[in-house]
Amino acid sequence: MPTILVLATTADGAVDDISLQALTFGRRLATGGPVHALVVAGEPGAEGTPAEATAAGFGAYGAAQVHLARHPAFETFAPDAVAAVLADLAGRVAADAVVGPGTEAGNTVLARAAARDGQPFAANCIAATLGSPAQVTRQRWGGTLQEEAALHGDRAYVSVAPHAVAAEALDGSSAAVDAFTPDIADADLVVRVVDRVAAAASGISLAEAKVVVSGGRGVGSTDGFKPIEELASLLGAAVGCSRAVTISGWRSHVDQVGQTGTKIAPNLYIAAGISGATQHMAGAKGAKKILAINKDAEAPIMSAADYAVIGDLHQIVPAISAEIRRARGA
Ligand SMILES: Cc1cc2nc3c(=O)[nH]c(=O)nc-3n(C[C@H](O)[C@H](O)[C@H](O)COP(=O)(O)OP(=O)(O)OC[C@H]3O[C@@H](n4cnc5c(N)ncnc54)[C@H](O)[C@@H]3O)c2cc1C
Repeated sequence: MPTILVLATTADGAVDDISLQALTFGRRLATGGPVHALVVAGEPGAEGTPAEATAAGFGAYGAAQVHLARHPAFETFAPDAVAAVLADLAGRVAADAVVGPGTEAGNTVLARAAARDGQPFAANCIAATLGSPAQVTRQRWGGTLQEEAALHGDRAYVSVAPHAVAAEALDGSSAAVDAFTPDIADADLVVRVVDRVAAAASGISLAEAKVVVSGGRGVGSTDGFKPIEELASLLGAAVGCSRAVTISGWRSHVDQVGQTGTKIAPNLYIAAGISGATQHMAGAKGAKKILAINKDAEAPIMSAADYAVIGDLHQIVPAISAEIRRARGA
């Protein structure tokens, strides 16, 4: 039976659901074989660092042995340092597969650990079977296609696409916790988070907004977003944008909708001056209704749009705002 090692990440010191999903995935892959989990933590009591009891919490989801690596370096995110510990532990427990969450952080660490270990890595998997080679089904292009892939190596590194499996606790399961202090090389601390800057609070989160008004290259400039912001304000909506906009520096990346931006699921998505590239729509496909405003009636977004206004957004967007004001008697 295979031995599985799971990278169990925490959020603000607490067990996070995405890691529990990865653990559930790893446990099923083990088919009754031993399941180990690696948790990294700073000094006991440090802000946002998991306690030993938190690490033990992974036992309820099937980890029989939790390895708790304590080091001050882990009080911030240092992907090479985590990868070094993960790859070393994979060798020590003779893991057949190393599994982790398909988050930005999880993929970053697993890719580095696999490279150190000289083994293959597949990101964002929704299914896996171990063997020679291991077979995986993984999401590509923001989930718009699934790929069958074979991993040729002695050990498969696999990240699990978020929400591909539901986290499932095991009755009566608990873990032994082995706390240790790893040696961390200075070279593994070159890449690390040194500061966090909170995004300017717009009041409405893009990921959770019921209405999103987005602008694309057609908006033309930073100032061109003023009418988009005005319409969003009237609708109680969040402002989004395409990558063409963030690359042009007209808006921050936190506003970007798409495969490499935020995935949105509003009741209404208003996309003005956006062509509807696959990578953009990968983030907008959760929208219940799409209103496209575009001067090109043949733009790809038209095939996904429920409603469309063909014309110049610089006239149409202010006209919609004026009509809303008129209807409200303002
Ligand atoms: C790996 C990868 C990841 C990517 N990730 C993302 C992502 O997360 N999000 C994303 O958005 N893109 C992403 N992209 C980029 C994507 O492929 C497109 O290049 C991008 O979405 C195009 O942005 P756009 O629609 O604003 O610009 P364009 O494709 O240039 O479209 C502009 C549209 O505006 C219309 N228009 C112009 N002027 C007006 C006007 N006055 N009135 C009305 N309409 C007008 C045009 O007819 C056109 O349809 C990614 C690409 C790659 C390769």
